[in-house]
Amino acid sequence: MSECTFCKIIAGALPAKIVYKDDLVTAFRDINPQAPTHILIVPNQHLSGVAALTAEHAPTLAALFTTANQIAAAEGLAGDGYRLVLNQGRHGGQTVFHLHLHLLGGRRMTWPPG
Ligand code: 5GP
Ligand code: ZN
Repeated sequence: MSECTFCKIIAGALPAKIVYKDDLVTAFRDINPQAPTHILIVPNQHLSGVAALTAEHAPTLAALFTTANQIAAAEGLAGDGYRLVLNQGRHGGQTVFHLHLHLLGGRRMTWPPG
């Protein structure tokens, strides 16, 4: 078994509140939510981050964003809007090195980010 936390969640070896799963992606609620709705959408394939992406990952990337769109609608966020965040590397604030898209909603977000 991989030591990667998100690989363990995808494999069912670590509990999480899964909201969606298909052949390409898994979505689950963040353990430390930063907004009323905070869901992580991750590729089932282990990819360390944006820096690991190549053109062959295009179907997986499409699935990350279309799944975010569908979950946002299902969570009632489509009208007011929401934020998608993808942190890459140390200065980007990445702490889990398995690619993940944050879906944040249910409150007004601030800009610029801290
Ligand atoms: P990053 O800082 O890498 O962009 O985001 C990692 C996110 O993963 C954080 O928001 C953190 O709360 C979340 N996280 C870390 N470990 C776990 C876990 O074991 N389960 C869940 N559901 N979320 C986690
Ligand atoms: Zn992983």
